[in-house]
Amino acid sequence: MAAASLEVRALSVGYGPVRALRDVTVDVPEGAIVAVLGGNGAGKSTLLRAVSRTLGFQRGHVTSGSISFDGRPLDRLSAARIVAAGVVQVPEGRQVFARMTVADNLRAGALGSAGGRRSSAEALGRVHELFPVLADRAHQRAGLLSGGEQQMLAMGRALMARPRLLLLDEPSLGLAPLMAARIAETVQEINATGTSVLLVEQNAAIALRLASTAYVLDVGEVALSGPADELASSDEVRRRYLGVVDEDAAADASRAQAAAPTLRKWPA
Ligand code: ATP
Repeated sequence: MAAASLEVRALSVGYGPVRALRDVTVDVPEGAIVAVLGGNGAGKSTLLRAVSRTLGFQRGHVTSGSISFDGRPLDRLSAARIVAAGVVQVPEGRQVFARMTVADNLRAGALGSAGGRRSSAEALGRVHELFPVLADRAHQRAGLLSGGEQQMLAMGRALMARPRLLLLDEPSLGLAPLMAARIAETVQEINATGTSVLLVEQNAAIALRLASTAYVLDVGEVALSGPADELASSDEVRRRYLGVVDEDAAADASRAQAAAPTLRKWPA
């Protein structure tokens, strides 16, 4: 097995008195796509913020545990140094600079990365290959792009920093199925050129298709983890995250309903 590139060990995180993560251990091996699933408030974004060292912007803090990338502890680095180390986050909600042009948004993504002008030009070429619409709309304000195009821009901006590990927070959120599928394809293309991906998703169907390994977070703890194909066929994941109805349970429920006395209006 390849050396684990990102190692999160027994991580606990709080926001003031709120405990958002407890004893979470996650590995992203070099070159892999790893998915983190879970419902609202499970702690998925918190995990990414802890890795990118942006928790402080949300008044969050790591209470115990460790995070390292290629054996190097990330715990004491600033958010800017994390980017320079090759770990770049695409936050939830397509946060683009709405009043700036598409080209300027992409330029901003290259700030703080280790490479010089030549490497920025190469990165821009690659972003335009992946997302031709960003070349076509280069001089348009980012706020005028569609939701899907803004997601492309947010990913393109992250790629301008030439990440070795991309942290993706719910890239399919709020997108029509075709656009979500297009974004998923692009994640695969990005990964194929050697960038590891830690993907946080509520859309378990997409995430389990893309990832080799997945973790399920439940109220801040890892409830399940394993190879993505095994999780995709587990009854619990199918029922809770893939919306597959457990036929036996549904039949039991409908029998119980039939046997229950009919509700009467009160007063009779
Ligand atoms: P969603 O899918 O809804 O975005 P999530 O799995 O990403 O959810 P987080 O946003 O990481 O979950 O939240 C984990 C827990 O931490 C929740 O209980 C949430 O209310 C709490 N939390 C998140 N951000 C803050 C904050 N800035 N201040 C206080 N509590 C927070």
